[in-house]
Amino acid sequence: MNKQVKIAWIGKHFGEEPPLVRGKGPESKGKKQGAGTIFFSGCNLRCVFCQNYQIPQQGLGRLISVEELANAMLDLHGQGAVNIDLVTPTLWADQIVAAVKIARGKGLCVPIVWNSNGYEKVSLIEALRGVVDIYLPDFKYADDTLAKKYSGVENYLETAKAAIRAMYEQVGNLQLDDQGIATRGLMVRHMVLPGLMANSIGVLNEMAQIDTMIYVSLMSQYSPVYRSAEFPEINRPITDEEMDQVYDYADFCGLKNGFRQKSDSARPMTPDFRKVNPFE
Ligand code: SF4
Repeated sequence: MNKQVKIAWIGKHFGEEPPLVRGKGPESKGKKQGAGTIFFSGCNLRCVFCQNYQIPQQGLGRLISVEELANAMLDLHGQGAVNIDLVTPTLWADQIVAAVKIARGKGLCVPIVWNSNGYEKVSLIEALRGVVDIYLPDFKYADDTLAKKYSGVENYLETAKAAIRAMYEQVGNLQLDDQGIATRGLMVRHMVLPGLMANSIGVLNEMAQIDTMIYVSLMSQYSPVYRSAEFPEINRPITDEEMDQVYDYADFCGLKNGFRQKSDSARPMTPDFRKVNPFE
């Protein structure tokens, strides 16, 4: 195993879904304590619309040792983070497992969040058993043609579905403590792409087929960045009408739990949230 890992950013992050950032105990007075976020460099997908492309696609970051990674986790815990939120972790799984074990041995006792793109082997998810507490995968496409065109990978749908099923089997649905903080389980994210409503509907159908109780976080933050201009059909932001179609379909297909990234929504599924890009 390479003993180093490339990271791009470490810090408290307040823009994840409410159960991943909210404060603990009466002393927090309802203030967010934040996720303890670590952004890893590189990615196993090559999305033309990558929202943080400087890190996953252009390799921004610096190498640190496994011990330094463990210390970074402990430091975030010490700052009051309610979890350790590992963003785009897949390429660095071996080093992360080793670092978590070191940090656990030194007293780390907040949940580990695997905030990945979901295009992962079942064998990897199995290797994370007992290390990861909360899985937060994307589910991007219900259509392999789109996955090939926009993210450069084959066999996306079966791969992502198998990984998400394995995650769900391992940790179950998202569990919250009595203060609404996530302690364990699965939440799936789907970022809606402009003009691709049929794709979003397909993704929601796949989720509902696994379990209508699954937490699904529907994200409207798409921005036409990176190579989007090469694909005119997705070279624009999402509209409110498009998001409403997707929200309506989530209701229609019976999904009961989740979050919607829209500030003026008054829908029952919504404790809504606003994703904040820590690099802005
Ligand atoms: S999976 Fe996410 S981080 Fe990776 S290239 Fe795609 S959008 Fe970027």
